[in-house]
Amino acid sequence: VNVSSKVSVKPRDKLLGGLLTADFDEDSCLSRYQSSLYRKPSPYNTSQYLVSKLRNYEMLHKRCGPGTDAYKIATKKLGHDHNMNVGDKSVGECKYIVWVAVYGLGNRILTLASVFLYALLTDRIILVDQRKDISDLFCEPFPGTSWLLPLDFPLMGKIDSFDREYSRCHGTMLKNHTINSTTIPSHLYLHLLHDYRDQDQRFFCQKDHSLVDKVPWLVVKSNLYFIPSLWLNPSFQPELIKLFPQKDTVFYHLARYLFHPTNQVWGMVTRSYNAYLSRADEILGIQVRVFSRQTKYFQHVMNQIVACTQREKLLPETAAQEESQVTNTTKPPKLKAVLVTSLNPGYSNNLKNMYWERPTSTGEIVKVYQPSGERFQQTDKKLHDQKALAEMYLLSLTDKLVTSAWSTFGYVAQGLGGLKPWILYTPKKFKTPDPPCGRGVSMEPCFLTPPAHGCGAKKGINTAKIVPFVRYCEDLRHYGLKLV
Ligand code: GDP
Repeated sequence: VNVSSKVSVKPRDKLLGGLLTADFDEDSCLSRYQSSLYRKPSPYNTSQYLVSKLRNYEMLHKRCGPGTDAYKIATKKLGHDHNMNVGDKSVGECKYIVWVAVYGLGNRILTLASVFLYALLTDRIILVDQRKDISDLFCEPFPGTSWLLPLDFPLMGKIDSFDREYSRCHGTMLKNHTINSTTIPSHLYLHLLHDYRDQDQRFFCQKDHSLVDKVPWLVVKSNLYFIPSLWLNPSFQPELIKLFPQKDTVFYHLARYLFHPTNQVWGMVTRSYNAYLSRADEILGIQVRVFSRQTKYFQHVMNQIVACTQREKLLPETAAQEESQVTNTTKPPKLKAVLVTSLNPGYSNNLKNMYWERPTSTGEIVKVYQPSGERFQQTDKKLHDQKALAEMYLLSLTDKLVTSAWSTFGYVAQGLGGLKPWILYTPKKFKTPDPPCGRGVSMEPCFLTPPAHGCGAKKGINTAKIVPFVRYCEDLRHYGLKLV
């Protein structure tokens, strides 16, 4: 008998169905080709159209990226900061969009994915502001080039001051009627933050986009997962449908393509996984995010976690001590590992005690593990951000996932993992909500503050009713939008 034929010999899909290029050196970024060792085979196919679009993008990025003649020409124009006439040949062949790091890491990851998809759709090059710790977190995603915006970029000194009042802010120019169709500014600032105005939101509208499309340099600050609004733009929709025939897999594919933790972060992921999770029969992830000034321990949140996991049969109930005397020694008990992430270590400590002090009613063994307890948010501190990324990634490796409503940290974990989460609803008045949690309708992140109005003249249009695949989010009823 051929022994090897007995075991599953399906080869490991290192390149994730062609999503990843084979053109990288493996050692410089172990996570890129090793991630498949830690995940089950993906149930979601990558469309061949997406694969070819990515390979074309990679070529374009190589041609236009930092250090190329095209990049030099494009930045030189920017230095003069003059308006160009339509039809001016000097516009150049490469257009760029610069992503600036703002808000926490979850927000940053969602906006990077959004900006990258926008770049794919509009044949722009994405460049990322590297002054924060982005290169300590992620490997380069495109082969033979760099996505890091060079530090001598002409606008570098001004970027931090870009805001809604900036004269080259797209929304401000629309508001002041300083945009006309004969001259194109050499750069525009896009204000896509939660406090954006109607005029800023017109960036998503087909009608206003033709000018934006001609501007060689866009600089964007965003804390929004704005991909659902791209789907609502008729000029992008046909292309998006070809790229993502399964609409709720947009972030899933983009994240697996773009975000490869550096070796340092990957070491944290794999050490945690191998030490605490790999031997379990099932892994449950619980992401606890309490939005309050103090990240102190709240009993009503603890009660909510227990109520949710027991009601949804994610964790066994505990039994009275006496019932546990008979143990079946012939069959080893099932081992459930619970990975808890939170700024506060109290929730996992209590869960751990609960399963230590009493047996489970099912005989299962529950072990609880929380990698870090950072106490408070310390965005832009290298090790803190690395731990945050390692934990999002670890959550994405679980079998089932409980997340906290409104948290982009949890959105990244669910999207990357392809997991439809159970969402812990936001407590009101310091009380455990009833029901404590509910199942998400898709693994996609929520666009928490979408444009309030449609692009037409009609005000107050219901943006969740325009197409069937863009709906209200479960955790933000009648407001946020998500792809399903
Ligand atoms: P959001 O505020 O929940 O949408 O998520 P963000 O990731 O944008 O911002 C929260 C930040 O707080 C994270 O990036 C981390 O710096 C920190 N943080 C929050 N929860 C956790 C956690 O469970 N583990 C770790 N390591 N950091 C966390």
